[in-house]
Amino acid sequence: MTPAKVFEFQTPDWKLAIAESFRNQGELLEFCEIDSSGLDLNRSEKVRPETGREAGPGHDFPLRVTRYFASLIEKGNALDPLLLQVLPDARELETIEGYSRDPVGDRRSMPVAGLIHKYHGRVLLTLTGACPIHCRYCFRRHFPYQEATVDYNTDGEVMKYLSRHKEIREVILSGGDPLMLSDQKLAKLIVNLNQVAHIRLLRIHSRLLSVLPQRVTETFIETLKQFNGKIILVTHINHPHEITEFNRSAFQLLSQQGFTLLNQAVLLKQINNSAQTLVDLSYKLFAAHIMPYYLHRLDKVQGAAHFDLPAKESHRIYRKMRSRLPGYLLPELVEEIAGRPSKTRCIQ
Ligand SMILES: *Cc1c(COP(=O)(O)O)cnc(C)c1O
Ligand code: SF4
Repeated sequence: MTPAKVFEFQTPDWKLAIAESFRNQGELLEFCEIDSSGLDLNRSEKVRPETGREAGPGHDFPLRVTRYFASLIEKGNALDPLLLQVLPDARELETIEGYSRDPVGDRRSMPVAGLIHKYHGRVLLTLTGACPIHCRYCFRRHFPYQEATVDYNTDGEVMKYLSRHKEIREVILSGGDPLMLSDQKLAKLIVNLNQVAHIRLLRIHSRLLSVLPQRVTETFIETLKQFNGKIILVTHINHPHEITEFNRSAFQLLSQQGFTLLNQAVLLKQINNSAQTLVDLSYKLFAAHIMPYYLHRLDKVQGAAHFDLPAKESHRIYRKMRSRLPGYLLPELVEEIAGRPSKTRCIQ
């Protein structure tokens, strides 16, 4: 059932494939056929030749990328838009005013460890701090996951909170990447959620779906189908090159099973800051059975300022997209402002 050809990129077992991910800058660059002397000086100095291990940025957020995602990076291209999403950069160490460690105020909206309740009718569970890929711009890079491990046992605080709050219709699984959890753990969570009658929607925010398509197995689908309500899968794809025949077959399978597929992307300098790229992305998502949902402006997290675009440029790009796309393929350009009751639309 899993798209067979994915196996050419890495082992068919998804857990093994995660274990075989790149965690070392030297090895990744070698695989991408990029000479580190071709990179900027700051970056190449961070690679210790004797071990190839990274000595510089990202001590608390090391390089990590699946072999499948790495295989989509153009050989020899040090400016490849997929490579730039995962390659540590010395600028991450700069402290820039206005960029903080908790830019979206999540820590203030956590009534129970690992449960974030900011918006009416929906809560977000940070199930794990682990991810299959470390995106350098990630706003959760400083998140204190140790303080936020979810106890979703039937008699635990999370289930009690959900049962008590009858206005909650939707539970969003997030992280980290919630699909790093085993199918057994997901099944246990789903069975417990089924006990709470007012929760009819289960949303899963996951980058794993696109960067490790072999995660989509028959058991995985059977696990999700145990949920009594509707399932919404939200992918995180920023650039058209991230969609291939391999993950497209996984998305097709999920769509055929009746799951709704949406995508959120982040607007990132040097990666997708062009209306043409984003228009292409929308069409490619649609061809892969995914509807564009949000285009996020970068959360102002410490260490990611070099990915940020001025508001004016973001708006210019977005207006251009709007003039070229049918309404149903236009994502909503939003930003997250701490304390607001929803994500904030950037332009009307
Ligand atoms: C983004 C987010 C949501 C979901 O918002 P939608 O507009 O429903 O997609 C829910 N909870 C938190 C904490 C969020 O950051
Ligand atoms: S997969 Fe998501 S949570 Fe993990 S590093 Fe990337 S953006 Fe952050």
